[in-house]
Amino acid sequence: IFVSDALGAGGTLVLSKPHAHYLGTVLRLGEGAEVLLFNGRDGEWRGSLGRVDRKGAEVTLAERARPQTGGPDLTLLFAPLKKGPTDLVVQKGTELGVGRFVPVLTARTQADRVKTDRLAAIAIEAAEQCERLDVPVVEEACPLDEALAEIGAVMFCDEAGDDPQARWGGGAGRGAPALEALGGVAKAPRAVLIGPEGGFTAGEREALRARPDAVPVSLGPRILKAETAAIVALTLWGAALGD
Ligand code: SAM
Repeated sequence: IFVSDALGAGGTLVLSKPHAHYLGTVLRLGEGAEVLLFNGRDGEWRGSLGRVDRKGAEVTLAERARPQTGGPDLTLLFAPLKKGPTDLVVQKGTELGVGRFVPVLTARTQADRVKTDRLAAIAIEAAEQCERLDVPVVEEACPLDEALAEIGAVMFCDEAGDDPQARWGGGAGRGAPALEALGGVAKAPRAVLIGPEGGFTAGEREALRARPDAVPVSLGPRILKAETAAIVALTLWGAALGD
């Protein structure tokens, strides 16, 4: 369970009503049950459940179960999509180790803002489910070139690569398999850029290809939906980085 409190040995925390509902009603846990808590900073702590009722729940911390670990420092820049697909990108991106979600506004982006609170709650829930100890950050939406200015190296997924039959992970227009191409930027902050449902404009594509630290990557010869492309690209990174 994700909590915002500081975690340390011997502490007793009073959990919120939603947490009490989840523990007591959904999981049907009672006094003495073991609970694992994390706050994204202090590692994972094992505790035992005290009273749990409609008003809240108490957990007394016993010892640290896992030290704090960070994710593979992946940044996902994605053009916000309709509600469902955006939720999916944040949920699956969290499972795949994204540390930062940066919604970027491109010429053909459908949504011009995102509900960061709602997406942050989806990220927390996905972090709890996949048992990672850090919780990714969801930034406010910003224009593409602003996001790129502070990112540096980026793998941008380009379905219109020169080589339409590019193999999976083939570096569109560069021939080198993405994993090798990614290797070249592995030291820099790792970022993946996925365009909107309508794709990048020719101007955006040209500007991206002109960047020395932007690696265009094909995700195969078919046009993937943006949310599918995000999952595939992040999986490639995971394979390349092994973490
Ligand atoms: N231009 C596409 C079309 O003609 O339908 C629309 C873009 S696609 C639905 C959304 C985004 O997913 C693209 O901007 C790109 O970032 C990524 N994408 C989809 N298929 C891809 C592929 N085969 N290789 C690389 N990126 C892909």
